[in-house]
Amino acid sequence: MIEAIYQFPESFLWGTATSAHQVEGQNTNNNWSAWEAEPGRIINGDRSGLACDWWNGRWEEDLQNAARDGQNAHRFSVEWSRIQPASDQWDESALEKYRMLLKGMRRLGLTPVVTLHHFTDPLWIYERGGWENDETPKYFEKFVRKVVDAFKDEVKLWVTLNEPNGLVVNSYIGGQFPPGKKDFRAAFKAIKNLIRGHAAAWHAIHDLQAKAMASYALYYRGFFPKNSWSPLDILATRSLKGSVNEVFSNAIEDGQVKFALYKDFIREAVGTQDYVGIQYYSSDMVSFNPFKPGELFTSRCCPPGVAQSETGFMSSFPAGMTQALKWARQFNLPIYITENGVEDSTDALRPAYLAQHLHKVWRAANFNYQVKGYFHWSQVDNFEWERGWSQRFGLWELNPVTQKRTRRRSADLYAAICKENGISSAAIRQFAPEVFDILFPS
Ligand code: BGC
Repeated sequence: MIEAIYQFPESFLWGTATSAHQVEGQNTNNNWSAWEAEPGRIINGDRSGLACDWWNGRWEEDLQNAARDGQNAHRFSVEWSRIQPASDQWDESALEKYRMLLKGMRRLGLTPVVTLHHFTDPLWIYERGGWENDETPKYFEKFVRKVVDAFKDEVKLWVTLNEPNGLVVNSYIGGQFPPGKKDFRAAFKAIKNLIRGHAAAWHAIHDLQAKAMASYALYYRGFFPKNSWSPLDILATRSLKGSVNEVFSNAIEDGQVKFALYKDFIREAVGTQDYVGIQYYSSDMVSFNPFKPGELFTSRCCPPGVAQSETGFMSSFPAGMTQALKWARQFNLPIYITENGVEDSTDALRPAYLAQHLHKVWRAANFNYQVKGYFHWSQVDNFEWERGWSQRFGLWELNPVTQKRTRRRSADLYAAICKENGISSAAIRQFAPEVFDILFPS
């Protein structure tokens, strides 16, 4: 019988990730609470409501579970609209609540990773045009200074923006996020202001805290040519990688901002990352399609023969994780997987998904990529944006009405991996036997 372990490097960070609006509940002063109130915006008319009730203190139960299960880190976000409810107003009591959370995490032995912007904007920012407004980066910088100054003794790892590329695609191309536009020009404006906001935040963080590690978290979508022999499919794949995955990294590389047919230059963005933050979920096969200018002349489909998530939202395609890590390695910086996970209310697919994706992370670490940590999305089911409560990403199940948490098999698997700092044959045999022969071939 095979007995083996894929061992991760020492002091690897093992955690889960959450975001304020998705777990706190009772957020009423941001653009998402307004969006949820508009009919037809959220599947089944769902609302975030109490979410996971973290604002009332239920983070303690979830993070105790996380720590008991061997996690040593947690990534969460602070809600701008709580800390700065109006342009000229700071709410010290909100900062105090986050301070309690940070202290609690320290007690539990969880290294904090703090995200400063995870999709939501205060209403007062939204009403002034959100990220299309050239003033927003300055407002954001002010907010960042306030937060970093308050928590610089507790936090070293910062995420300025969560998935600025995903935010732009969803808000200005697909229209599922507020302000619900389908407008490449508006998208380009938002891109530039998000880059400016990130750069201002990065410089502010370093002003206030010399040893900070700060970056943004990139939504990395795996793209592969549908027909590897077709030059047009290869070209289409490259163009999607450029527009979806690389707009922000290019700006950080040399200041050049290029999106669709638009171009600009933002000098202050150059060099503003201390690590590469990757969020990898799924991949597409790409082919050239001359009839789809709105999708940059591409068609996308799921990789053939791979498992789909419960609602068909994503595929389980671990090769995409390898593509993401190879891409990340070019920057020669530490790499964190700041999110990875799958929607699966019955936990039928998640153990295999988790094991196979982590195996790719291990492989990269074993080839001396500087992979320093992994954050599973998520600890507990939470409010999934325009998909409401129809998708369940938690290691733990949540009943949003009773707030009861129920452990899933994946929590056992992840606990075994975190505690052993590795993927052992015993854990896979017990919790993900369906992929045992793939991970430990005899
Ligand atoms: C986002 C999370 C979201 C997750 C699953 C990521 O793109 O950062 O907020 O919950 O995907 O949908």
